[in-house]
Amino acid sequence: MPNILVTNDDGIEAPGLRALVAALEGLGTVYVVAPHRERSAAAQSITIHEPIFFQSTGEREWAVQGTPADAVILALNRLLPEPPALVLSGINYGANLGENVYYSGTVAAAQEGAINGIPSCALSLAARRKGADFTAAAEFSRRLAAVALEEGLPQGVLLSANIPQDWNGGVRFTRQSKKITRNVLREDVDPRGRPFVWLCEQKAIDEVEPDTDYAAVSAGCVSITPLELDRTHSTSLNHLSHWAARLARV
Ligand code: MN
Repeated sequence: MPNILVTNDDGIEAPGLRALVAALEGLGTVYVVAPHRERSAAAQSITIHEPIFFQSTGEREWAVQGTPADAVILALNRLLPEPPALVLSGINYGANLGENVYYSGTVAAAQEGAINGIPSCALSLAARRKGADFTAAAEFSRRLAAVALEEGLPQGVLLSANIPQDWNGGVRFTRQSKKITRNVLREDVDPRGRPFVWLCEQKAIDEVEPDTDYAAVSAGCVSITPLELDRTHSTSLNHLSHWAARLARV
């Protein structure tokens, strides 16, 4: 059986990770290497100014006192006996849609896998109501894992899947939408008189472009967006390259 690395950004005890591990039963040998506490919105940050402690928490399972990217780096370079055939990150409690993928630790962990040349998928539950039910997302994740193990993925590409809590069974391949939320700053003063803001967000998009991740999830379908590591914008590379002559020191 192939080795599968499971990680997340909600922490090693998160129900979404446990639901994913249970769903993968019989599909591969699962290794869990994940942050010991929630590190949502850590993006792909890594820890370089302090040690990264880690401890075994079960058979083929380690909790890492670091970020999601730290966990993947430890898994690939220290903890797993060989590179896994697949990296799965999630199942995150909450959607990772639009430009929010840039803040997501869930997506970043999969991206760390892709950077290391391993087929990698981020899995997120788009939950509308309070209290998460990972049943549908876990079922879908197993299907996706099976296909990804069989077919592989192109080099430099990872998949970001968002599964609606009330999945209607449909699956759409989509492109990344614009940022679907906007920042809201709640201001207050702490008991010592120091002012602070608390970053919150609210929905910002009403008009949804039809072929996007957000549209698919809104329609009750799973959205799968292939994300590319190489973020070079080719059109600008061509159109702006004449700036070089103006910018060069001669
Ligand atoms: Mn999270």
